[in-house]
Amino acid sequence: MSQLRTLLAELPVAAQAEVAVLGGGPAGLCAAVAAAQEGADVLLVERYGFLGGMATAGLVNPFMPFQVADLNTPSPAAPKALKLVNGGLFQEILRRLQAAGGYEPQQQAFDPETFKQVAQELVLEAGVRLRLHTALLGALAEDGHLRLAGTASKSGLQAIAAEVFIDATGDADLAAWAGAEYEQGRPEDGLCQPMTLNFRMAGVAPDLMPSRAEINALYDAAQQRGEIDNPREDVLWFYTTRRGEIHFNTTRVVGKQATDADDLTAAEIEGRRQVQQMVAFLRREVPGFADAYLAATGTQIGMRESRRVRGDYVLTAEDVLSARDFADGIARGCYPVDIHNPAGTGTVMQPVPPGRSYALPYRCLTPRGLENLLVAGRPISADHAAHSSLRVMHIAMNVGEAAGVAAAQSLRRRGRTRSVEVATLRQRLRERGAVIDEV
Ligand SMILES: Cc1cc2nc3c(=O)[nH]c(=O)nc-3n(C[C@H](O)[C@H](O)[C@H](O)COP(=O)(O)OP(=O)(O)OC[C@H]3O[C@@H](n4cnc5c(N)ncnc54)[C@H](O)[C@@H]3O)c2cc1C
Repeated sequence: MSQLRTLLAELPVAAQAEVAVLGGGPAGLCAAVAAAQEGADVLLVERYGFLGGMATAGLVNPFMPFQVADLNTPSPAAPKALKLVNGGLFQEILRRLQAAGGYEPQQQAFDPETFKQVAQELVLEAGVRLRLHTALLGALAEDGHLRLAGTASKSGLQAIAAEVFIDATGDADLAAWAGAEYEQGRPEDGLCQPMTLNFRMAGVAPDLMPSRAEINALYDAAQQRGEIDNPREDVLWFYTTRRGEIHFNTTRVVGKQATDADDLTAAEIEGRRQVQQMVAFLRREVPGFADAYLAATGTQIGMRESRRVRGDYVLTAEDVLSARDFADGIARGCYPVDIHNPAGTGTVMQPVPPGRSYALPYRCLTPRGLENLLVAGRPISADHAAHSSLRVMHIAMNVGEAAGVAAAQSLRRRGRTRSVEVATLRQRLRERGAVIDEV
């Protein structure tokens, strides 16, 4: 036995649950809520003091498209009706955000502080046991069965035991440390999509702001003069729920891995340097920003991509771009392939066919070689390009919800996730309001 395995085996067990969810981002919180609503005793473990993952700690905004045009709308002149692609708990979260004044439907923008509150209420109402300020540090697996997750917190080093585990860490930490196969980055060189430290400017005079094209022209000129060395090709910005506040998803840190602490440190430092450069540029050059100030940066730099677990099926770019359906589909997506250049300038966008969506198979959630572990959220089994589509928050929520329901159903089969009856799982997801059939 290696020293780490010996250590993990000897850790005091702090908590036991039927289902343990590691990571409380969009996928993890929905997984925990769904499993608890389906009757399981659930523990949700999160390293920060609040829920939401990239949606809160990463200051990611807004929701990308979750509806497609109904191409069968009778009159070509009439506005196209919209068909919902992402339902279930995602829609419940939208409803609660809006009721609390934290959602702006025109922009699909939400307020991150309201998101934290809504997520916490949902989780507690469902009866989930919450463990915050607790980071995963390792996993103990034997004979294809995950026995324990090791954690580090102010209570020291401890273990968590469960019948079924759900890895919702965004980086597949639990699966990788349990020995699951995975891939990372693009096939030719392993480079992942760039990281971005999101930030917000407040005190903006929106009526004075020039067009997107004019802002980009000013940015180009500043890049040419050497005043901006961010490799991103343009300024990516969004309105928020507050007048006078603009959200920027525009720094670009390339060549760093989200699974390496030294890379993460360097990326945070570089992201913050780029934010300062952008803030100075906006205040100096862009009408409407003269009196604006930096209102917030993400608690952490945003990671678009890291590990992708090898599951029983690997979703491909072709599946996404041909809007493929699957008999074991548990969620759907309509967001394009969206690859920010892992090496520098440029972004590749390839749409899903108009009015269509693709299915995400249950087999993408089951890591090869491990029986009582499901992966949810962005690290599910997919190639680099398919991942760039399925990574968005509402798809992560839908996949998380499916993982939670599947985990609860697997308890009748001693936590064997491959023994879940797919027809029963799909029927239950439909009853919960999830969209899983071709729309
Ligand atoms: C810069 C950027 C811009 C984006 N723009 C958009 C956008 O406009 N719209 C959109 O819909 N999506 C966007 N995305 C994608 C989206 O935000 C993420 O892919 C999505 O949040 C993934 O959800 P998740 O739950 O799988 O992972 P995450 O959101 O990463 O959540 C993982 C959770 O696990 C916790 N965790 C991680 N490791 C550990 C550990 N070892 N121990 C304990 N807890 C741990 C984290 O703290 C976090 O709470 C963007 C992403 C980035 C980075």
